[in-house]
Amino acid sequence: QARAAGRGLWRLFQPEMEAGIRQRRQLETELRSALAAEQFEVFYQPLVEARTLALAGFEALVRWRHPGRGLVPPGEFIPLLEETGLIGPLGSWVLARACADAAGWPAHLRLAVNLSPVQVLNARLVQEVAQALAGAGLAPQRLELEITETVLLQDNEVTLGVLRRLHELGVRISMDDFGTGYSSLSYLRRFPFDKIKVDQSFVHTLPRDRGGIPIIRAVTGLGRALGMRVLAEGVETVEQMEILREEGCDELQGFLFGRPAPLCEAAEVIARDLAGERPGAAGQCPVPAPAPGA
Ligand code: C2E
Ligand code: MG
Ligand code: MG
Ligand code: MG
Repeated sequence: QARAAGRGLWRLFQPEMEAGIRQRRQLETELRSALAAEQFEVFYQPLVEARTLALAGFEALVRWRHPGRGLVPPGEFIPLLEETGLIGPLGSWVLARACADAAGWPAHLRLAVNLSPVQVLNARLVQEVAQALAGAGLAPQRLELEITETVLLQDNEVTLGVLRRLHELGVRISMDDFGTGYSSLSYLRRFPFDKIKVDQSFVHTLPRDRGGIPIIRAVTGLGRALGMRVLAEGVETVEQMEILREEGCDELQGFLFGRPAPLCEAAEVIARDLAGERPGAAGQCPVPAPAPGA
């Protein structure tokens, strides 16, 4: 009976699925021409020192400026780029663009760039990173590459070799979205990360979910023991900020300190930081109004 019902469902969903496949093909075609037409933009979101709330750097987050749909967030096109292999060219472009932008910032500020697992599987990445740095004149120590646990899930010698060689270049490696994948602890042992980025899901539920606090505390303890910095993502309220500082996070990131924004706005953030302003510090800074598409 379940099977019959299943077949009924299939009939019901088939036209929808075909429409889905058509949509995907269309999106793929659009993405190819978007690459050629350079419709992508890099936005920057502030990272701050937890203790002083001084600006520590920015994370580069890509956006697609679609001629009809406006700003499209990466969650809507990165998966398809990964499936089609187009993430390679986009990733190279983001890396070069972001390094060139960051080279114009004060030298104490760092740049974080996300890498797709697909990029880390390709040994050419090392050369690409070296070229992006040299081309921009950016010191390797200022670049942090963010990877997720899925990269190490591949359990691949190429991946580990690529990460080690990137480290040898002087580039820092961060584990992004920590706590959302599987057996995170074994991955922390397999590769010497410089930073752990605690996933937003552990931060958003604070302070409602007091159970999140022991987890944050455990991760900051782990970071201290292993010599890795710990950053908490998704900080939206002063209350969350205070808990995270108390629990010993080294860096914070979230709408409380700034949304991802175009390069020109990053320049304003830098100017305000140099003038001694500390967003969120007064305890009166509400989450700023959303920038269009951010
Ligand atoms: P991620 O690397 O974990 O980046 C953080 C995401 O959280 C960003 O979403 C950022 O806008 C959002 N975020 C930051 N603070 C807050 C907050 O306080 N509250 C909330 N609700 N959200 C916050 P975004 O820009 O949509 O990016 C999503 C994901 O797309 C990124 O997650 C990253 O995995 C991927 N991504 C972005 N740019 C690139 C890229 O150039 N290459 C690759 N491979 N992936 C990228
Ligand atoms: Mg990231
Ligand atoms: Mg993250
Ligand atoms: Mg994420």
